[in-house]
Amino acid sequence: MSKKILIVEDEEKLATLLKDYLKQAGFIPSCLANGLEVVPLVREQGPDLILLDLMLPGRDGLEICKEIRTFSNVPIIMITARVEEIDRLLGLELGADDYICKPYSPREVVARVKAVLRRSGNEATIQAEGLVLDKSRFQATLHGRNLDLTAVEFKLLAYLTANPGRIYSRGQLIERIYLDDRIVSERTIDSHIKKLRHKISDVAPEEKLIHSVYGVGYKFSPR
Ligand code: CA
Repeated sequence: MSKKILIVEDEEKLATLLKDYLKQAGFIPSCLANGLEVVPLVREQGPDLILLDLMLPGRDGLEICKEIRTFSNVPIIMITARVEEIDRLLGLELGADDYICKPYSPREVVARVKAVLRRSGNEATIQAEGLVLDKSRFQATLHGRNLDLTAVEFKLLAYLTANPGRIYSRGQLIERIYLDDRIVSERTIDSHIKKLRHKISDVAPEEKLIHSVYGVGYKFSPR
């Protein structure tokens, strides 16, 4: 199936050029020029990848990237006009998947888009028998039923299930789930885990997927 690529770029010529190249490469591109329109469109249409210019009218790329990461893991390639900017952006840990500096060749952008899509494995992944995690929409289903998770619950589940049997401390989970510098108490993690377990047992009362390890933390184990 062709992937939908959202190009967020206020320089019309550049946007059109990228659009043509992406179309030729078999993608379905669409363009937005105003920063304010990005988040609503991402929520509504769920693109498979976003090319996000940093400097935009309405709202800048940094803020947009941060907000998207609160509800979606869709791959984002950030585009900046200054090469020095990339170091700073990396330091901010925005959760972008790659960075490209202007001026770029459209061919290079297409190659990076393909690489990021390959790497991100954006397709729904089966993590355990009956459990399917769709990372582009933060949606988890168990035996075909939506677990209706919040973004934090989804991230917790995705992280725990990535290494079945491995025990994670509360501190490790906090570090991984909250990318900003918010102070999060260990009790907060406990309460998210509790809600997550409730939602799992609502769908499948017999499954105990998340186990507490006394004095250490949590692990995922399907049996
Ligand atoms: Ca711009």
